[in-house]
Amino acid sequence: MGKQSFYDFKIEDIIEFIMKRKAKKVLIQAPNGLKHLFLKHLEELKKELPNVEFIISGDPAYGSCFLAEIEAKRVNADLIVHVGHTEYYKATIPTIYVEAFSKLALTEKLAKKLLNYIKNLNVKNIGLCGVLQHLRSIEQVKKLLENNGYKVYIGKHGPYTKYDGQVVGCDYVSALTVNSNVDLHLIVSGGLFHPVGLGLATLKPVVKLDPYEEEVVDLTKEVKKVLRKRYWRIMESLNAENYGVIVGMRKGQYRPNLVKSIEKLVRRKGGRSTRIVMDIVTEENLLNLDNSFDAYIVTSCPRIPIDNLGEFRKPVLTPGEAYMVLTESLEKYIFPW
Ligand code: SF4
Repeated sequence: MGKQSFYDFKIEDIIEFIMKRKAKKVLIQAPNGLKHLFLKHLEELKKELPNVEFIISGDPAYGSCFLAEIEAKRVNADLIVHVGHTEYYKATIPTIYVEAFSKLALTEKLAKKLLNYIKNLNVKNIGLCGVLQHLRSIEQVKKLLENNGYKVYIGKHGPYTKYDGQVVGCDYVSALTVNSNVDLHLIVSGGLFHPVGLGLATLKPVVKLDPYEEEVVDLTKEVKKVLRKRYWRIMESLNAENYGVIVGMRKGQYRPNLVKSIEKLVRRKGGRSTRIVMDIVTEENLLNLDNSFDAYIVTSCPRIPIDNLGEFRKPVLTPGEAYMVLTESLEKYIFPW
């Protein structure tokens, strides 16, 4: 199967949505991994809608928290086509979320690998979740496990997800709601980003079912490695006095209540803080501010401290970690919020 045909972009639904809204100018936004695959359909869209101007956002779209509303308003687009995520917050511009479900099904080979692996773990109760693209196959996985005697739990979705069993990098509620019932979490996903977050949020063993690689990968050790690093950053922050509190300016990443509650905790611990408004939080950008602060707290996206700034020379904390440090509650690791 060619890579672009891995995903169901539902081009007919997009055309219908644009026609219904009588849009004349449409902004297309997609995450980097899906951009080139989705854009293969651009000519088709142009052919079906010859009177519509399509504009592409070339910036990365890490999540729908990063919806390109500012850009759409600037170029007078009357509609956004956002690919690869579900809604994160109520947009002020009509937006169609193209879920881009994967067409990859659970193959016999992968099913066998999964059962063989799990058999040796001596578990009975399994939490099952997946990233949006693979949600179609989680019912199939559930049936397979249940037919083989396992009890499977799929939790209710959280505030930043739409479907039960769905997880995103900052919302593992569907796994957390079933956490106390399960011996391990099984996630249908590629890569490390979502499985590692799942382990940090639930603190339970994590096994990944990877439909792209047709592999079953146990990530429990990897999660423990990340956890050790995070505790090291937490311990380093315990004596910090002056905090830089990073505030996202993207609507979906602007969290004023969280910022206020963190500032309150800083004051209660006798420290001081300064807000830093910043969307692109990189080592290079932080270095320019660095002499002023002992530690940073990122309130925009809780993955930035872990995935981008884990090795930065000053500690950079997630909101959950900041809470641990500022209240000196170190026993249980808290992620993400
Ligand atoms: S993990 Fe970060 S980028 Fe992804 S949806 Fe959450 S806030 Fe946005």
